[in-house]
Amino acid sequence: MSFSADVKAELCRTRLTRACCARAEACGVLLYCNQFSAQGIKIVTESADFSARLPQLFRRAFQITLPPKTETESSGGKQIFLLEDSEKLARIWEVCGGAFGGGIAHHINFAFLEDEHCRLAFLRGAFLSGGSVTDPQKSYHLELVTSHYFVNRELTALLLDMGYHPKDTTRKSNYVTYFKQSEYIEDLLTSIGAPISAMAIMNAKVEKNLRNGINRRVNCDAANADKTVDAAQEQLVSIRSLATSGQLESLGEKLQEAARLRQAHPELSLSDLAALCQPPVTKSCLNHRLRKLVSLGKDR
Ligand SMILES: [Zn+2]
Repeated sequence: MSFSADVKAELCRTRLTRACCARAEACGVLLYCNQFSAQGIKIVTESADFSARLPQLFRRAFQITLPPKTETESSGGKQIFLLEDSEKLARIWEVCGGAFGGGIAHHINFAFLEDEHCRLAFLRGAFLSGGSVTDPQKSYHLELVTSHYFVNRELTALLLDMGYHPKDTTRKSNYVTYFKQSEYIEDLLTSIGAPISAMAIMNAKVEKNLRNGINRRVNCDAANADKTVDAAQEQLVSIRSLATSGQLESLGEKLQEAARLRQAHPELSLSDLAALCQPPVTKSCLNHRLRKLVSLGKDR
């Protein structure tokens, strides 16, 4: 099952207790479904859980019985609900508010969304019907797609009001509201009834950060090791050249000690080598001496 399907299955476990919330959820479903017009309603879904919830939802919200779903060969396992009964359609519009149908632009009926529980139920309905979310192992993206211009605008306003910062775009003749920030996706899913899915996103994020952190450290250690080796190589070349020319013996005892230690321990880092000096010196002090050797070696 896809992550979206998991989320929808979890959302569908939310019980339809309050009538106000059932109505709000049903409105969300209708404004984000495939067709909601004066001619009829068409809801297409791949989610078995959502298609099991729909008849209960319509009964609770509108006191109507949905005609049984159809599942055609060509629908690729998708389940389709069609409602064309004019009396039932009239009943739905009556409940949803007079603004629906009759060629008038669709709007979110904010009168239904005064309470927090109803706002969240509306969002749940919209997500069940027109929403999807990507697998957090891959990326973070949640979107809600509607064919109604004003509904998209009003949803953005609603989400902004709730503290979210959604983005929107168009795709073909549809309007898309979306989030890319994992925190928003987690918060939204938690509040509309899918806290377990939200937790899965958090866990995926922690895992990803951990993995990135380890990779960064490995890369960083490897880069440092390469630098140590390169620097030691350069020092050894200079030291050898100073020794061959007999110049090394004429240098001060501290420089000679640095040269001896580097030749004896080509693989050691500066700080390890500094600790071997008698008495031990700081890393920067030894670095200074080794640089001196390199520059003297080059001058020759
Ligand atoms: Zn409510």
